[in-house]
Amino acid sequence: MLAVDLHCHSNRSDGGLSPAALVARAAERGVKLLALTDHDEVSGLEAARQAAAAAGVTLLPGVEISANWGAVPVHVVGLGIDPGSAALLAGIERVRSGRVRRAEAIAERLTKLGMHGTLEGAMALASNPAMISRTHFARHLVDRGWVRDMNAAFRRFLGTDKPAYVRHRWAELREAVGWIRAAGGAAVLAHPARYDLRTARLRALLADFKALGGAAVEVITAGHDTVQAARMARIAGEFDLAVSAGSDFHAPGESWLDLGQLPELPLPCEPVWRRWIDAAPRH
Ligand code: AMP
Ligand code: MN
Ligand code: MN
Ligand code: MN
Repeated sequence: MLAVDLHCHSNRSDGGLSPAALVARAAERGVKLLALTDHDEVSGLEAARQAAAAAGVTLLPGVEISANWGAVPVHVVGLGIDPGSAALLAGIERVRSGRVRRAEAIAERLTKLGMHGTLEGAMALASNPAMISRTHFARHLVDRGWVRDMNAAFRRFLGTDKPAYVRHRWAELREAVGWIRAAGGAAVLAHPARYDLRTARLRALLADFKALGGAAVEVITAGHDTVQAARMARIAGEFDLAVSAGSDFHAPGESWLDLGQLPELPLPCEPVWRRWIDAAPRH
């Protein structure tokens, strides 16, 4: 198992734990190098930094920016960012700002499907209302008993092109990578297999990502089996991109992978975290 976990969420975005509780859970589970990567949000990093110092965990400041590559929604993780970077802060503030209106549109669709009161219900679950997300809607639908679990909420209603799906313009891929680089971070293409792209399109995405200054591709992530991990590592290598690994943990009992549960990398490949491991104090 890797002692590294470079992708997870707190309740500053759509995770279930406070930043401090998240760090404590990671420490208990053997994580030595942790990146907190809330969606479009860095306000949890200070509390996480304090908790990490107390727990003997090395914390990398991170973020996961919601972006579009043409018509395809993609996520870009930034690692080792300066959370005070003006360019980054202005960028993610803009990305967050469309979420409430989008949530209203999602709720309208759910109302038409006979599910009333979902805006209030989802909002009540969001500890950071500006970061209202489909995850909060999914949790609310589960709580109301309208779906069996989160997966069913996405499969039946909230997933791409399902009846309550609302298309949205996030940051352009170019902007997301640019803000991360302006903040001194490494840009990582998150969970590539989830975009459901054929290999030729995936190569086109990686070529664009590399040309924009992207640094790495997530190879170990929830939803990648060993075959997908090996495939992604191979394609990343073709573009001279490093690899990354993260659980994408959101909440206990809800996520596919828990913190610190990551399998080893599949192939000889260049881990994006080498630069921080070398700098990190030994435990
Ligand atoms: P949003 O940023 O509002 O579009 O919400 C996207 C979030 O929904 C992702 O970050 C995941 O946390 C969550 N999500 C997407 N698909 C699923 C799924 N099938 N099961 C559980 N959570 C999902
Ligand atoms: Mn999420
Ligand atoms: Mn993501
Ligand atoms: Mn994530």
